[in-house]
Amino acid sequence: MNPAKPQPAASISSHPRLSAKAERFTESVIREMTRLALKHGAVNLSQGFPDFPAPAEIKHAAQEAISADINQYAITWGAKRFRDAIAEKFEHAQGMAVDPEREITVCCGSTEAMMSTMMAIINPGDEVVVFEPFYENYGPDAILSGAAPRFVKLRAPDWTFDPDDLAAAFGPATKAIILNTPNNPTGKVFERSELEAIRDLCLRWNAFAITDEIYEHMLYDGAKHTSMATIDGMRERTITINALSKTYSVTGWRVGWAIASPEVTSAIRKVHDFMTVGAAAPLQEAGAAALKFPQSYYDTLAREYALRRDRLLAILAGAGFHCFKPRGAYYIMTDIAAFGFPDDVAFAKYLVTEIGVAAVPGSSFYNDPADGRTHLRFTFCKTEKTFQAAANRLAKLPYPRR
Ligand code: GLN
Repeated sequence: MNPAKPQPAASISSHPRLSAKAERFTESVIREMTRLALKHGAVNLSQGFPDFPAPAEIKHAAQEAISADINQYAITWGAKRFRDAIAEKFEHAQGMAVDPEREITVCCGSTEAMMSTMMAIINPGDEVVVFEPFYENYGPDAILSGAAPRFVKLRAPDWTFDPDDLAAAFGPATKAIILNTPNNPTGKVFERSELEAIRDLCLRWNAFAITDEIYEHMLYDGAKHTSMATIDGMRERTITINALSKTYSVTGWRVGWAIASPEVTSAIRKVHDFMTVGAAAPLQEAGAAALKFPQSYYDTLAREYALRRDRLLAILAGAGFHCFKPRGAYYIMTDIAAFGFPDDVAFAKYLVTEIGVAAVPGSSFYNDPADGRTHLRFTFCKTEKTFQAAANRLAKLPYPRR
């Protein structure tokens, strides 16, 4: 061998193997759609983040916290003032007292709260029950924590589930059920009777309920939100996840939390500590101020979202989409079969590149992409200006043949 002669670079296949877990899932399709919207200058009705300002009070509180030099680590499981405010609000809204010293962990968004929770409770061989369609993060959450998901279908148009399907998904290996109410992407708000049916199975099989309640204040047509933790027998086995993101229109702040029994909380706190150390300290102070907003703030929020929902429903129906009217959260699931495209991904691509509107392909919410091939999800956490632009562009869409 001539040492002066440069050797060819090692081929990719000779690299050390990457994580088999990481190979089992893709980049988030929701977040990819936002990148595509930016690239094509499309109106972005894909990823669920508001394009209007956050309340002035929460922004001032954050600015003041930074000026007051709250710029070092908060306590790893959350600043005391913030945890106290979370406990107070939960008791006010749900009538359940929780101990901020032992039952709350503040995390970097509900995304981290969910992942830390999964890592804290899952062992090899454990299964988690997941209603489908589901928020896409729950798939990678299961893979990374090592849980095997068991899917239970929510069926259109009302997104109800068959109690027999649910019972069949539970068994001796079930560690938890993941519940998201109000639900992304369907807009379903689980009824008390449904929560009780889930409770019965959790008790029978000694399972946890992990409930993602981030859309708790986006409720329409008289729908009521019930926290699973308040259902008889569920306080000790429920992990309640929430965040500032949606309620206060600060999705980029990354501040969320998990409420759970002291025993579960101590496991979540350990995982959280070594994963992220803590959420942004000044933003936790701002969160403490926001959680004290008067009831009128939440009433106005829900009323304004109901108007946005109706606006987008009218635009989509006018453009030929079959819409499933949501009772909560801020998404509209649609049926696109009448447009005659081969599948949801092809249609979403056409919409973003040719029409100039970004939405999320339904397959991102299903384990088997074929189950979502006639669905497309739109979000309505947007301003009138955005709706108007979307309406103008969707008017170019050839109306489907009936
Ligand atoms: N929950 C939002 C959605 O479904 C996105 C959240 C995120 O991208 N982290 O669009």
